Amino acid sequence: MRRFLMAASTYVLGFAILAMCAGLGLLDRAHLLWIGGSFVVVNLVFFTLLRSGWNLQLQDPSMTAQQICAGAAQVFVILILADRLHFLAGPFYSVLFVFGMLQLRARTLVWVEIFVLTTYFLAMALRIALFQDRLDLRVEAVNAVVVVGSSVWYAVAAGYISDLRGRLRESLRTIEQLAIRDALTDTWNRRHLDALLFSEVQRCERLRGRLTACMVDVDHFKNVNDRYGHATGDEVLKGVAAGLKAQLRSIDELGRFGGEEFLLLLPGTSADEALICAERLRAAVAALPLLPEAGARVTVSIGLAEFAPGDTPATLVERADRALYRAKRGGRDRVVVDGAAGAVGMARAA
Ligand code: GH3
Ligand code: MG
Ligand code: MG
Repeated sequence: MRRFLMAASTYVLGFAILAMCAGLGLLDRAHLLWIGGSFVVVNLVFFTLLRSGWNLQLQDPSMTAQQICAGAAQVFVILILADRLHFLAGPFYSVLFVFGMLQLRARTLVWVEIFVLTTYFLAMALRIALFQDRLDLRVEAVNAVVVVGSSVWYAVAAGYISDLRGRLRESLRTIEQLAIRDALTDTWNRRHLDALLFSEVQRCERLRGRLTACMVDVDHFKNVNDRYGHATGDEVLKGVAAGLKAQLRSIDELGRFGGEEFLLLLPGTSADEALICAERLRAAVAALPLLPEAGARVTVSIGLAEFAPGDTPATLVERADRALYRAKRGGRDRVVVDGAAGAVGMARAA
C-alpha cells in the first residue's frame, strides 16, 4: 500500500506538470483529460488488486515491476497524444527506473527496462510515421540516446544496490545471532535465555503444558582455573556446552545462565522424564576428556524443577537452583529434583 501511495502521488505530480503544459498551450485540454482519466483507471486497477489481496500470490506483492510497466504505458500515451512533450519521456522514465532500482533485483529491472524501451521506440516509430513533418529527427536521436543511456546507468546502479542490500541482510543476520548467543560457549546468552524462559512459562500456564528447568553447574570449576589456567577453563566450558548440546532434542533450549552455570529448558517434559535426560547429560559430561591430565574428569551437578501452576520464571529458576544446591551439598556429580524428599531424586546413587 505504501508503494501504491508513492506511485499514486507520482501520478498526481505528473498530472500537475501536464496541466501546466496544457495551461501553456503545449497540450490539448481534451488530451489532458484523456491522460488524467487513464491515470485514474490505472491507479484504480492497482488499488483494487492490492485491496483484494490478489497481489499476495505474487513474488513481489507490491507489484513494483507491474507498476513500472503501467507507468511506461502511460508515457506511451502521452508521447502519442502530445508529441511536443516528448522531452518529458526522459524525466518520467527516470522516476520509473528509480522506483525500480530501489526495489527490484538488477535482473528484473533489466527486463522491465527492455519493456519500457520497447514501448518508447514503438512510440517513436509511430510518431515518425504520423507526424513526420513536425518532428526534428536530430532532437529525437539525442532523446533516444539519453533514454537508453540513463536506463543502462539505472541498471548498473540497481546491481550495486541489490548487492548492498544482500550484504546488509547478511550483516543483520550476524548481528541478530551476536545479540542472542554467548560468545564463548555458543549457547543462548542470558538475555535470550530469559526471553525463552518467559515464553515457555507463559505457554505452560496457558496450555497446561509441561516444562522442566535444569540448572547445570560445573563442579569445582574454580579449581580447574587455578590448576590449569583460565584458557583451559574456557576450553572446558566450551567442551561442557558442546557435550550438553549433543545430547539434546531440537526443542530443548540451552543457555549460559552465568559463569559456569547453564540453564536448560525441556519443554513438554515432566520431572521424571527430565531426570532420565539429566542423568544422561551428567554421565556424558563426566565421560568427556576435557582436561590435559590423563584420567582427570570434569563433572557437573544438576538441579531440576518442573513447572507447577502459579510458577513464574523467577520461582521456577529459584526451585531449580535450590535442587542444584542440594546436589552440591550431597557430594556433586549428581542430579536432584526439586521437591523430591532426601535422596529420592538422586540418580547418581544408582
Ligand atoms: P562448585 O562445585 O560449588 O560449583 O564450585 P565452583 O568452583 O565451580 O564454584 P565457584 O562459584 O566457587 O567458582 C566458579 C568459577 O568459575 C569462578 C570463576 O572465576 C569461574 N568462571 C566464571 N566464568 C568463567 C569463564 O568464562 N571462564 C573461566 N575460565 N572461568 C570462569
Ligand atoms: Mg561450579
Ligand atoms: Mg556456580
